[in-house]
Amino acid sequence: MKKLLLIATGGTIASTKTEGGLAPGLPPEELLGRVPDARTFCQVDAVQPMNLDSTNITPSHWLGLAGVVEENYHRYDGFVICHGTDTLAYSGAALSYLIQGTRKPIVLTGAQKPIDREDTDARQNLLDSLRFASCGDSGVCIVFGGHVIAGTRARKTRTKSYNAFSSINFPDLAEIRDSRVVRFLPCGETGKPVFTKKLNDRVALLKLIPGLSPEAFSALGAWCDGLIIESYGVGGIPDAYLQQLDMLVKAGKTVVLATQVPQEGSDLSVYQVGHRVKERYHLLEPYDMTLESTVTKLMWVLGQTADPEEARRLFYTPVNYDLLF
Ligand code: ASP
Repeated sequence: MKKLLLIATGGTIASTKTEGGLAPGLPPEELLGRVPDARTFCQVDAVQPMNLDSTNITPSHWLGLAGVVEENYHRYDGFVICHGTDTLAYSGAALSYLIQGTRKPIVLTGAQKPIDREDTDARQNLLDSLRFASCGDSGVCIVFGGHVIAGTRARKTRTKSYNAFSSINFPDLAEIRDSRVVRFLPCGETGKPVFTKKLNDRVALLKLIPGLSPEAFSALGAWCDGLIIESYGVGGIPDAYLQQLDMLVKAGKTVVLATQVPQEGSDLSVYQVGHRVKERYHLLEPYDMTLESTVTKLMWVLGQTADPEEARRLFYTPVNYDLLF
């Protein structure tokens, strides 16, 4: 029988009604008590390092979660992290970079409705996650609504439906059909687990809108070490910001030119508005990476190095299926 560690962090799955709206309140024992069938295939211990609405999750929480996994890595066959759905995709991506080369399952899950509600999806998601974590190699992944998605490929695409997460630019790794795990892809990680302990949280995202003032562009750029610009289509920079971009690059900022189109990714070489800046400034581009992965990978990269060439190498090294290009 597999030995698993449940790491409870809060979220809707553990929430109860309060006068001011739903707030996390249920302890992990209560979550496990709602899935008694799990006892037939796994033995679960539980910890609760935080109890938050995931709106409040920050990079320091990701480091804390990676630390809990590292401390317990040799004691358990797999880990299930119960997490709020709102920033779950960011946490899945962040943990993929902080814990590389793991073949032990590290499964993130949550729910759209609290576990104590009759019409909840929480019991099924938790049971599916424990089942998947008991089924051998997988690495960091998200189990939700019967889908198993690589930790670097998930996005919350629906705010209310049970089918809340999609795998972006990449197929699901597996599905859970009733109590059967149907795998489509093997674990994306090989080798030995490597835990890293540093992220640079001076990363910002600027979503372009037509007519955004150049001052806004440079103000955000001035604050951060790494700026992700979500531009349009396959990617380009409007003429109005060329001077600001030049200043940012000369000031040593790492600039990633991404797209705000959710599917199929960037290709800066296509249009003059992209080509001219990519060539001149050696900008990074995410290609088919999700925004959540781009953000957390840049935090991880800039946490490891300040050297632009090493940063480029790390950024373009695929991790847990994050990048195909
Ligand atoms: N606001 C909640 C959270 O992210 C939503 C959820 O868990 O579904 O913690």
